[in-house]
Parts: sequence; C-alpha cells; structure tokens
Amino acid sequence: MATLVEASREFLYRVAAKIDAGEKQIKEISMAKNFSCMVSDRVTYDASQIFGSCGYLRTCLVERLCRDNRILSIGGGTREIMKEIIAKHISS
Ligand SMILES: Cc1cc2nc3c(=O)[nH]c(=O)nc-3n(C[C@H](O)[C@H](O)[C@H](O)COP(=O)(O)OP(=O)(O)OC[C@H]3O[C@@H](n4cnc5c(N)ncnc54)[C@H](O)[C@@H]3O)c2cc1C
Repeated sequence: MATLVEASREFLYRVAAKIDAGEKQIKEISMAKNFSCMVSDRVTYDASQIFGSCGYLRTCLVERLCRDNRILSIGGGTREIMKEIIAKHISS
C-alpha cells in the first residue's frame, strides 16, 4: 500500500514539475489522475479489509475514507474519460 501511494505521489509530482516548467502534459495529467484513483481504490479497499468489520462502521475513519474515495474517480473528469484522453493522445 505504501509503495503504491509513493509511486502515485512521485508520478504526480513529476507531471506537476513539467507543467511548472511550461511543458504541455495533457496525456500525462490524465495518466496521473487515472493511476492515483486506481491506487486510492486499492488502498482504501485494503485498509478497510485490515480493519475487518470495524472498517465498515461509521465510527471508523476508514469507512469515511472509503466513501470519500468514490468521488476521486468521478469528480474533475471520470476515470473512463481519463482513459479516453490517454488513448486519443497515444493513437495520434
Ligand atoms: C460530490 C460531487 C461534487 C462535484 N463537484 C463538482 C464541481 O465542483 N464542479 C463540476 O464541474 N462538477 C462537479 N461534480 C460533477 C462531476 O464532475 C460529474 O459527476 C462527473 O464529471 C461525471 O459526470 P456525470 O455524473 O454526469 O456522469 P455521466 O457523464 O453521466 O457518466 C456516467 C458514467 O458513464 C461514463 N461515461 C460517460 N461518457 C463516457 C464515454 N464517452 N466513454 C466511456 N465512459 C463514459 C462515466 O465515466 C461514468 O462512469 C461533482 C460531483 C459530485 C458527486
């Protein structure tokens, strides 16, 4: 889980640095968002599993994190749309 979060963070920072340097990064932004959402799905699911039934209860922070995680794959462009953008840029 920590490795996935670290990989996701490094990817995001690399893309952000290139944008700061004035480079166009449309495909890479979509890749970073799609990958980060994938990591977030996996990590919140695994965290919930570690907590067992407690992870399902509202009294547990992990339950809130799992719920909040859902919006990451929807808001600001869904993962499906990110994939469409990536495919368009790879094929062009
Ligand atoms: C809590 C919350 C806060 C939000 N805040 C904002 C905000 O501040 N500003 C803002 O602008 N919007 C905001 N939104 C809206 C959000 O950006 C949209 O919900 C999101 O873009 C998806 O649009 P939709 O809900 O109409 O789903 P739809 O467009 O109806 O899509 C439904 C499903 O079909 C898939 N889909 C759609 N088109 C394609 C396609 N061509 N190929 C493959 N799959 C496709 C989608 O990926 C999705 O899984 C918010 C939404 C929520 C829930």
